[in-house]
Amino acid sequence: MKPSLDKLQKFLKLEADRGYDNRAVFGGLERMLDRWEAEARADELPEDLVQAVGDRLRDYGRLAPASRAEVLAGLWRRVQRETGSQEELPPARPEKQPEPELAAQPETAPKEPAPRRRPAPAAQPAPSGRDPALASTGEVAALNAPITVLSGVGPRHAKTLERLGLYSLRDMLYHFPRRYDDYTRLEPINRLQFGDEVTVIGTIQRVGTRKIRGGKLEIVEAVVSDGTGALRITWFNQPWHAKRLRGGSQIVLSGKIEQYLGRAVMNNPEWEPLEQQQLNTNRIVPVYPLTANITQRWLRRLMNQVVSYWAPRIPDPLPERLRQQTGLMKISTALWQAHFPDSWQDLEAARHRLAFDEIFLLQLGVLRQKRAWQDRTARVYAQSDAWLRDQLARLPYALTGAQARAVDDIRTDLASGRPMNRLLQGDVGSGKTTVAALAIGMLASEGVQSALMAPTSILAEQHYKNLVHFFTAEPVVPDWTDVPPAPPLLQPEQIRLLLGATPESEKQEIRAGLAAGSIKLVIGTHALLEDPVTFQDLQLAVIDEQHRFGVEQRSALRAKGDNLHLLVMTATPIPRSLALTLYGDLDLTVIDELPPGRQDVSTHVLPPRELERAYNLIRKQVAAGRQAFVIYPLVEESENNDAKAAVEQHGLLQREIFPRLRVGLLHGRLRPDEKDAVMAAFRDRAFDVLVSTTVVEVGVDIPNATVMLIEGANRFGLAQLHQLRGRVGRGAEKSYCLLVPDTPDNLENERLQAMASTNDGFVLADRDLEQRGPGEFLGTRQAGFGGLQMASLTDIPLIEKARRQAQALFEQDPELEAPEHRALAGALNRFWGLEETETIVSDIS
Ligand code: ADP
Ligand code: MG
Repeated sequence: MKPSLDKLQKFLKLEADRGYDNRAVFGGLERMLDRWEAEARADELPEDLVQAVGDRLRDYGRLAPASRAEVLAGLWRRVQRETGSQEELPPARPEKQPEPELAAQPETAPKEPAPRRRPAPAAQPAPSGRDPALASTGEVAALNAPITVLSGVGPRHAKTLERLGLYSLRDMLYHFPRRYDDYTRLEPINRLQFGDEVTVIGTIQRVGTRKIRGGKLEIVEAVVSDGTGALRITWFNQPWHAKRLRGGSQIVLSGKIEQYLGRAVMNNPEWEPLEQQQLNTNRIVPVYPLTANITQRWLRRLMNQVVSYWAPRIPDPLPERLRQQTGLMKISTALWQAHFPDSWQDLEAARHRLAFDEIFLLQLGVLRQKRAWQDRTARVYAQSDAWLRDQLARLPYALTGAQARAVDDIRTDLASGRPMNRLLQGDVGSGKTTVAALAIGMLASEGVQSALMAPTSILAEQHYKNLVHFFTAEPVVPDWTDVPPAPPLLQPEQIRLLLGATPESEKQEIRAGLAAGSIKLVIGTHALLEDPVTFQDLQLAVIDEQHRFGVEQRSALRAKGDNLHLLVMTATPIPRSLALTLYGDLDLTVIDELPPGRQDVSTHVLPPRELERAYNLIRKQVAAGRQAFVIYPLVEESENNDAKAAVEQHGLLQREIFPRLRVGLLHGRLRPDEKDAVMAAFRDRAFDVLVSTTVVEVGVDIPNATVMLIEGANRFGLAQLHQLRGRVGRGAEKSYCLLVPDTPDNLENERLQAMASTNDGFVLADRDLEQRGPGEFLGTRQAGFGGLQMASLTDIPLIEKARRQAQALFEQDPELEAPEHRALAGALNRFWGLEETETIVSDIS
């Protein structure tokens, strides 16, 4: 081993052995630096290691002992990578921490006395393996202290930080950087490559503003040079940059290198003034999400204070044994490294640990909820095979095998004596409504009440019509059976529709009917949740497109009955591993089969220059009496995004492309009632073509629409494209889906080809998950929990690991009563948005 490395190792080890008192080297570790650096360079140690040692040790003496331990641990890992050694540093012993350390450190020490409270001396035996100082209630409570206890944070700053969701010290610890700038990998300007995401340091040569597009758009331009070359920077419509940029000053820029007329440019980069400290640190620097009135610099300094003092003091929610078995980083190290990483590897390990916690807490909560459900009793609704046969005979078609299995699952649930809590997941058009109708029928037969909630009026209306038809229409005897149909289960007046727009007098009448029990089935929107709506005896709640509802809305509906049965439905094809994680408290039924005779939608990817072919197809289909959707990625055009936008395109299509057709417009900025009106008009054929963004309603049946044209298709995920495609192909006519990316990019087009190759939403969802990550699905989560900041739902091995551990721990100590699970219980409650003292209640989901 190189002598300098050996020496460093010895110093670090000695210092750790001594309990981080900074006496391993006479006069402090920093004293050895100059000599050591020279020796290390002579030994040709890697320069980044030499720099890291310098950075970390220079201020070592000024750190609190617990932070010193972090610093050394980071260095130690770096050294180990160099030497391949496995040896561990002894852990920090913060109980030796001298109190004056705090007083000497007004910058890092909170002002309030609370955090300094000493642990009650030996009042309770400390849980084995845990340091009493770390677990002390005083410190735990102090983590909940408001951020105003920090020096330099007054009420005004606190208000600002609240906008970032930061209220307590703990919030700060868990406020992670948005990204990191790697100042160890600064690029000189003459080495920049197009497409690189880089950080550049340079001097501002010139700054100017000018207006373009007839004064509509103001741009700020600057030229930055670093001696190797010059880089042109442009900010669009952000005039304030001009005021802050001073010629001659040095700045740090991060962004993507783009090409303009063959030269390297950066558009809308992030930047900040260069501080000497940044330049010298030569390290990976966190970049935090900001809000108005605070600067990156200020927040970073504050974060540094909080993290260096508090990260070592946060109790680890994971029991020590579990942590070691799973090979995870300590929470204190992980928090430190997530904010101020020593290396990308350390950052990765930290993220892994924090991600594990998230999935673990998510699973534990979900398991608790599930058990709370299973502990309850519910009324039994057991219907015979004969009953089911009679009801099926009322349908003009036979159930698919998957529908039949779903009905079976539900029948078993309803007869179990425990509340049903089932997620019914099935692709668009798989016939979930029919399954729901049969579930409602099972209760209607017993004279009790059901409610079905849908996210929009138009969907609710559609369900209302279908269900009225199912329950009350004169049955036709289908040709595949000779069983005489059973009499209707409900009378038309026993089924009602309740919308926000329902006239008040009618609302009152419906409420009265629900309270008295004369109405057996109500279908509606959020209007169902309004306070005055009460039921005589609600026994079944069905929620369609459940991901469109928030957690509170779901529990509000559930609260309208007493231990009622719950059926939630979704067409979002979530891969199974995800469904188990996110909805583990629900039993899952997947309808993985479409009714027979469904024609696949004929899907084609067209290059942008062949757009005219798509328009021609629309003209032909409209001439044949059909309708078409045209989807754009944006509502309105913006400067930073060259995607086409619905509003502009609507004008263009109506004026120039389809002057003789009636072209409607739908987008997310319309009010809900306006959206409903447009959808209803399209359904009623008041338009031939509907221009829309992706808001075009899930689940709405417009069988006459046969063309789905999606422009800028490369901007959508496959799962989303599949949902959009599901808007057509609902009738007997052949339907088309045309995908037109806005670039001729081959890779993109290949991705889109997957759409042409399969109509299976689950296949596409899995591919999406591989290619684009879980963003597509996170929208469906509707957090009722702290959310996943670190966990990537594509990391299946991590998810499996966390799930297994959660399961094992839950079986062993479901109430988390063991003393070594106290910190975990607190973390669990916080994750699920409950106060420290509360326990998880079952009605969260
Ligand atoms: P989704 O699962 O998307 O909510 P729906 O319940 O709206 O699907 O059903 C889509 C269409 O398929 C409806 O018109 C419905 O009548 C029809 N359908 C449902 N089940 C069957 C079946 N087993 N055979 C034939 N058609 C069916
Ligand atoms: Mg549906």
